[in-house]
Amino acid sequence: RGISPVKKTVVITGATSGIGRATALDLAAHGFHVIATARTTEKAGKLTAEAAERGHTLRTVLLDVTDPRSCQDAVAEIDEQTDGGPWALVNNAGIVNPGAFEDVSETDARAVLEVNLLGVARMTRLVLPGMRQRGEGRIIQMSSAGGLIAVPFNGWYSAGKFALEALTDTLRRELAGSGVRVSLIEPGTVDTPLVSGALARLAPPDSRYEAAYDRARRIVTARKPPGPETVARAVRRALTARVPRRRYGVGYEAAMAR
Ligand code: NDP
Repeated sequence: RGISPVKKTVVITGATSGIGRATALDLAAHGFHVIATARTTEKAGKLTAEAAERGHTLRTVLLDVTDPRSCQDAVAEIDEQTDGGPWALVNNAGIVNPGAFEDVSETDARAVLEVNLLGVARMTRLVLPGMRQRGEGRIIQMSSAGGLIAVPFNGWYSAGKFALEALTDTLRRELAGSGVRVSLIEPGTVDTPLVSGALARLAPPDSRYEAAYDRARRIVTARKPPGPETVARAVRRALTARVPRRRYGVGYEAAMAR
């Protein structure tokens, strides 16, 4: 028998779009207490209304993972709402700033690492003491197939996700015996605004990059990508497994990618 969702509070960062939104709605529908984070009250309200339309409830908290103060305030609010902290944290918020290595500015590179790596670390560090104290908890990291293989024009995204894989493996080893379980979700391309936005922002190939651009496009368009609901189910599998796996590949053969 798996873990029961009853009285289990799960915090999901970046829940206003794509995979985070699908995960928040899926977990709420399956009986978890969901606290979904949003960057604006407007988007928070939209998500709450969407859940209500489906007959589910979820709570929202405002959070920008790049702002340490916002992370502290959000976790303080969550601690208050949950009597000491959530059972699980799904570090999902993420961005891409696509482009060739020699074209991406340092500002854009830093922005990716701020959200996809440091944001994850900030939130994880803030919830861990409560989980340790209770001797129970789950941390789910939304990594990517891009955390295992690097594709052209997404170097900083892959650099951040490779680092996230390493940091998470370290954390799992440090938490051995603590009752806190850590898993990585590694989706291939998923049909979300992140992907459509990245493709739109990727400049058409110039003569420097024709071959690499063809390869990148082939990788992204090799098959019809699954919807974000597929990833939401993988998150639910990780949360409900008594002994969750270290890694959940979604939509590609993890073994082939390694
Ligand atoms: P979306 O762009 O659809 O959603 C990203 C979410 O992150 C939004 O809710 C966004 O909020 C939020 N977010 C962005 N910046 C911040 C921030 N500074 N603080 C808090 N929240 C923030 O992307 P996806 O659903 O596609 O991606 C979600 C995760 O899945 C990412 O970590 C991504 O790397 C990963 N992933 C995605 C894949 C794909 O093919 N789509 C494949 C593999 C992994 P807002 O609505 O305000 O912008």
